[in-house]
Amino acid sequence: MTLRDYLRRQVWIGYAIMIAGWLGLPLSLALSGEAADIPQVAFFAVAGVLVGVLWLVVRVRCPKCKARYGQIATEIAFGFGRRQRVMFCPYCGERLDQPYEPPRRVL
Ligand SMILES: [Zn+2]
Repeated sequence: MTLRDYLRRQVWIGYAIMIAGWLGLPLSLALSGEAADIPQVAFFAVAGVLVGVLWLVVRVRCPKCKARYGQIATEIAFGFGRRQRVMFCPYCGERLDQPYEPPRRVL
C-alpha cells in the first residue's frame, strides 16, 4: 500500500459516510411513511452528511507531518481531470507514491 492508497481509502470513508447520510433521508422517509418522524429523520441525515465532511476535514491528513489536507484531500487521493497530479505532501514534501504501512488500530 502506498501513502496515496491510504489517503484514498480515508477519502472514500468520508464520502461513504456523507452519501449514506444523504441517501438516508429519502430512504428512511420512504420506508417509515410516518409524517411525525420527519424532523428526527432529517436530523440524522444532516448529521450523517456533517460527520462525513468532518471526517474529510479532520481525519485525512499526512501521516508524517499530521497536516490536514482539507480541500485538497480529494485531489491528492484521486487526481481528477487534466491538472498535474500532486506527487508530494504540500506541507512536508513526503512522496505520496512511496510504500506506506498504515497504523494498526487497537481497540
Ligand atoms: Zn506531510
